[in-house]
Amino acid sequence: CGVFGILGNEEAANHTYLGLHALQHRGQESAGIATTIAGDHNMYVQRRQGLVSEQFTEDVLSRLPGDAAIGHVRYSTSGESAIRNAQPISVSTKYGPIALAHNGNLTNAGALRAKLESQGSIFGTTTDTEVIAHLIAKSLADNMLDAIIDALNQVQGAFSLVCLTPEFMIGLRDPNGVRPLCVGHLDGARVVSSEPTSFTLMGASFERELEPGEMFVTYRDGTEKWMEPFRKQTPTPCIFELVYFSRPDSTVFGRDVYGVRKRMGNILARESGVEADVVVPVPDSGVPAALGFAQESGVPYEVGLVRSHYVGRTFIEPSSQIRHFGVKLKLSPVQSVLEGKRVVVVDDSIVRGTTSRKIIKMVREAGAKEVHFRVASPQTTHPCFYGIDTPERSQLIAASHSLEEIRKYITADTLAYLSIKGLREAVSTNTEDGQSGFCEACFTGDYPIPLASNDRKKAAE
Ligand code: 5GP
Ligand code: SF4
Ligand code: MG
Repeated sequence: CGVFGILGNEEAANHTYLGLHALQHRGQESAGIATTIAGDHNMYVQRRQGLVSEQFTEDVLSRLPGDAAIGHVRYSTSGESAIRNAQPISVSTKYGPIALAHNGNLTNAGALRAKLESQGSIFGTTTDTEVIAHLIAKSLADNMLDAIIDALNQVQGAFSLVCLTPEFMIGLRDPNGVRPLCVGHLDGARVVSSEPTSFTLMGASFERELEPGEMFVTYRDGTEKWMEPFRKQTPTPCIFELVYFSRPDSTVFGRDVYGVRKRMGNILARESGVEADVVVPVPDSGVPAALGFAQESGVPYEVGLVRSHYVGRTFIEPSSQIRHFGVKLKLSPVQSVLEGKRVVVVDDSIVRGTTSRKIIKMVREAGAKEVHFRVASPQTTHPCFYGIDTPERSQLIAASHSLEEIRKYITADTLAYLSIKGLREAVSTNTEDGQSGFCEACFTGDYPIPLASNDRKKAAE
């Protein structure tokens, strides 16, 4: 998911529309915006299923008045893909109204929800985020800000969160800092966003990323607070943000995403170079790594697969029927590049292996003589419980198949993945003590935040 917030601009909803548009890659199922007006105790909320640019028409935006707004783009990792699960969540509490927009997944939401329900709470959604709203509402703290802190000290997992009330806006990252969140200025207004791509689009200046465990509060009267209200943890930001999820023109976790991805390709070429005529990326996710591979190996880079820009990221489509159909809708081979050639195809990751298999078939049908598949990350062997929509373990091809079995399945002549050491080198992180400073659980099974017992079982199955 992606989250955005702005306080102190008369066109708050319009800017949130732009902010969300620049975060659309983080989720395409639903989008929502909540706004408040100075001196008014209402929360204005609009949520829609679909893309920001299609759903948030002038008419919808005109129903979102005020100089403060938060927004959310969603793909479901917790709770089904229904409009009732769209965010921001908006509730009224004894402290007044509050809206919440959440990126990440709480690991103890199930247990907290069961406890709240046994005490009589009624839930209106199936998302983990609603648990936070209930904990705020039930807090014994004497003001909204303390109630939010109280609530968040009871949850575990990944939460980059943006909150809006009639008095203030908050942006915060969980103590592990799993998901990104950054802060900036737009003239006199304050802006927060999952990625700085939002700021670039609207001409806001990027100030900095929030630190893991850091909370930023900006009030309507112009005062600000920077707090660290949570128990300290060793930060474990999600390395997969750098591999795939974030946009390449972003700076995330202090790193230039494009540069990191290109280095993944450089290192991949050093680790498993191969005699070939062309290097072809799987667009768009494989492009920077393929460039890096080509530059390092000296094999020319060519656009051998063309992507249609009129379909979304296939993996975000919830039904696998659509996903299977999706490959041909999305990619098409350039015969003149591929015919008679020894082709290196580079992608960022293999999840189920079904896309890669279809791509190789397509490349062969276009006349390629050999197809060497190179993956710019290690084998994805474990599901994510911190907010990335990886399928369950039984569907992850590398969880149950050897390199050779995967090669056969996808029908490549050769197959190689980037090593975990290579990945760490690409993100320039210390590996001497065996701790990379990142969450790498989907590649290693080493989960840095404790899982709920049923998730622990799923991770081990
Ligand atoms: P596969 O060969 O596993 O079917 O598809 C691999 C493609 O899925 C890659 O191009 C990769 O960019 C994309 N992908 C990346 N991350 C994810 C994810 O979390 N889930 C799924 N299903 N696909 C992803
Ligand atoms: Fe990121 Fe993988 Fe960790 Fe999930 S398990 S937070 S995708 S590194
Ligand atoms: Mg891809």
